[in-house]
Amino acid sequence: MTHSPDSSQVSNPLLTKWTGSFELPPFLSIGPDHFRPAFDRALTDHRAEIDAIAGNPVEPSFDNTIAALEASGRELERVTNLFFVLAGADTSDEVEAVERDVSPLLARHNNALFLNPALYSRIAGLYRKRRELGLDAEQARVLERYHTRFVRAGAALEKPAQDRLAAINERLATLGTRFGQNILADEKSFAMLLGEDDFAGLPDFARAAARAAAEERGEPNKYAITLARSSVETFLQFSSRRDLREKAFQAWIRRGENGGATDNRSLIAEMVALRAERAKLLGFATFSDYRLDDQMAKTPAAARGLLDEVWGRARRKANAERDELQALIAQEGGNFALAAHDWRYYAEKLRKAKFDLDEAEIKPYLQLEKIIEAAFETAGRLFGLSFKPVSVPLYHPDARAWEVTDSQGRHVALFIGDYFARTSKHSGAWSTSLRDQERLSGDIRPIIVNVCNFSKPSAGEPALLSFDDARTLFHEFGHALHGMLSNVTYPLLAGTAVSSDFVELPSQLYEHWLEVPEILQEYARHCRTGESMPKALLERLLKTRTFNQGFATVEYTACALVDLDLHSLSDATGLDVSDFERKDLDRIAMPAEIVMRHRLPHFQHLFSSGGYAAGYYSYMWSEVLDADAFEAFEETGNAFDPATAKRLRDYIYAAGNLREPAEAYKSFRGRLPTVDALLKKRGLADVASK
Ligand SMILES: [Zn+2]
Repeated sequence: MTHSPDSSQVSNPLLTKWTGSFELPPFLSIGPDHFRPAFDRALTDHRAEIDAIAGNPVEPSFDNTIAALEASGRELERVTNLFFVLAGADTSDEVEAVERDVSPLLARHNNALFLNPALYSRIAGLYRKRRELGLDAEQARVLERYHTRFVRAGAALEKPAQDRLAAINERLATLGTRFGQNILADEKSFAMLLGEDDFAGLPDFARAAARAAAEERGEPNKYAITLARSSVETFLQFSSRRDLREKAFQAWIRRGENGGATDNRSLIAEMVALRAERAKLLGFATFSDYRLDDQMAKTPAAARGLLDEVWGRARRKANAERDELQALIAQEGGNFALAAHDWRYYAEKLRKAKFDLDEAEIKPYLQLEKIIEAAFETAGRLFGLSFKPVSVPLYHPDARAWEVTDSQGRHVALFIGDYFARTSKHSGAWSTSLRDQERLSGDIRPIIVNVCNFSKPSAGEPALLSFDDARTLFHEFGHALHGMLSNVTYPLLAGTAVSSDFVELPSQLYEHWLEVPEILQEYARHCRTGESMPKALLERLLKTRTFNQGFATVEYTACALVDLDLHSLSDATGLDVSDFERKDLDRIAMPAEIVMRHRLPHFQHLFSSGGYAAGYYSYMWSEVLDADAFEAFEETGNAFDPATAKRLRDYIYAAGNLREPAEAYKSFRGRLPTVDALLKKRGLADVASK
């Protein structure tokens, strides 16, 4: 660390009021050195606020305790949000060093908040007489959530247990940070440079993307395949060079498992053991019992029930798909067994043969610019929103901003989209915020950020997406809408602050509109001619919806099952992560030709922040909801039916955490969903489950 607290206190732009356009951070004058002193001051200030609330001599009331907590720590939140946007999307050695420093500090700060006995006794007292306080529904929900959070953090435990919990939390924060940084290091250090003989099978767009990727890494006029999903998956799909496919694939699936300083396996073993210990201290048999107790699913058994319902069918379908791919290899005179690094290549060939459809034919019609417009248009039709590009300084030249307004022209939010892969960005795609909606301290409007990792084109070339990329863009934009349409008073309940098995409903549901013909037809336009996608091609594309879904479902569901099994260990001391993964995959009879979508050594959902630990099942849990929710529109015969859209907005997109998820869903749909719509969507409805 090189910061000097004395000078930075005076001129630290993080600690002054942000008065520029949209009250954005003054990105151009912010440097990594500003963060540590800003964190130090914001943490101290928040601690003082908490102490004042906890030590208030006046009898506890909702206002002097819960509302006061809700109003506290604003500066800390502002600095934290900004810092983690940068740490995810535009990091550097300096930012990484701050992140390593600050993560345990933040964990320590949370410990001091949630394990504060005086504060807890005020909250518990209020909670006991909650019915006599004259609270409105939202206030009652906030109080209930505070009480639950404090209890789940260990506020009601004896001091020795609390001390141990505090130590565990700090250690987990440190390990999580290292986990994410190790993966980024492995991704940064790999680039497969292609020589003139190495392009066999690659369409033009893949060549162009490889050229741009090499350029980004300081190798102009060369061609590189990187471990960004868009880069490596495209290569696996098209390259006829089996040896190179294997090389790229092996590097991809071994991220975090390469031995040496960036190997994540010992970190995982320690994290899983610490989580199991924490759950026990809190009175639960395992971490997954602890985790799911506060989710929509409630129990690991309920989550597992859904996964099992799908798993048998998915395996059967995947095995049938494998046989078809193997037959194709034989037909071509190949004399080898299909391997994992062959699957995408032969699946692409088979798709072409079966549906006369190839990705290279679709791709020129899927321009990033147009797909962004399509996502905006959908939000316009459903929720009356408009989007206007605005020119404001952001943290990276590739990030862009739009002002979002409602049908009366009122400001709703600022939306930032940051779409291209680069070495300073963690892999994957996510939605986050610089500021969340609330009304407690005035009409605070949200600033939402979407981050993706699409291949960046060379200068002057249009950015083209795969259909999966386009779906990812819609997915993250669904999360963004959940933040932008949020309509609550208390920040605790705002936007995406819902349980993780419910939070994927707004995002996954939004993906459905990409496939609505009127959207696709209008916005899938050829990058050279501007012509919309021919109807026949569009129909063929939509017909392939369930193609290769056995593979996709297996690749995902295996991850969810392994996650649940790993976090259901009641004692994880001495865990051998590789051995566990292998044996667990054997137990569920994982097809040999498919590798988990995220293997444990780079499973960021579980270990970078822990947000989805014992919670990866959430995507499928939410999919049961989204498949059923979209049917609500289909039943009206109008994908934009205004009455259905209004209910969707009122009870889901705008409602944050105002209600229990099941109650919110029932208010929208009139009933809870069954698994049928999901099975149909994935083409698994007719496949035997056993
Ligand atoms: Zn998501």
